[in-house]
Amino acid sequence: MTAELIINDQIIEPGCSVMIDLPLPRLYTHALMTMPVHVIRGKKPGPKLFVSAAIHGDELNGVEIIRRLLKQPALNKLRGDLIAIPMVNVYGIIHHSRYLPDRRDLNRSFPGSKKGSLAARLADLFMTEIVRKCTHGIDLHTGAIHRSNLPQIRANLDDAETLSLAKSFNVPVLLNSNLRDGSMRESAAGLGIPMLLYEAGEAL
Ligand SMILES: [Zn+2]
Repeated sequence: MTAELIINDQIIEPGCSVMIDLPLPRLYTHALMTMPVHVIRGKKPGPKLFVSAAIHGDELNGVEIIRRLLKQPALNKLRGDLIAIPMVNVYGIIHHSRYLPDRRDLNRSFPGSKKGSLAARLADLFMTEIVRKCTHGIDLHTGAIHRSNLPQIRANLDDAETLSLAKSFNVPVLLNSNLRDGSMRESAAGLGIPMLLYEAGEAL
């Protein structure tokens, strides 16, 4: 029996692939904003993995990584579920900026709250609709502008499950990295969800 998966009040059945637009606060122009979420459910039960990118809106490599990931033929034989979010900070993407329009860093605003700043509400939505429904996570980042990072995993390598995931990722460098206050990874760790943070290349 496969566990139920509901995102944005939509039930997703095993064996189905859907794209869900999570409603977000409007832009200051009153234009509607959404966060696109791709969900691929295997027919057979297994882990639930989220892969997110551009929580820093100028770190674009992960957007392309997810585009390629979603085209993998291996997904036809998936056991468990893949939830891919190519643009977590859609506001930052529009402005080619790491930050939200008020200069808050989304990855220092977790776990967020229902009534806080835009960053807090975005973080709360992401925790509620994505992280709490998953068993594992990978968050994709890059270095800064004009500073290219060697492909590397940053994770809590003292945790056996996280270390095993990190080794499977097969990159040149694994960094044992302390949790940052307010990061998505810290909030996921608080829920017992092992997470990898991947960094590669430079911003924009
Ligand atoms: Zn980043």
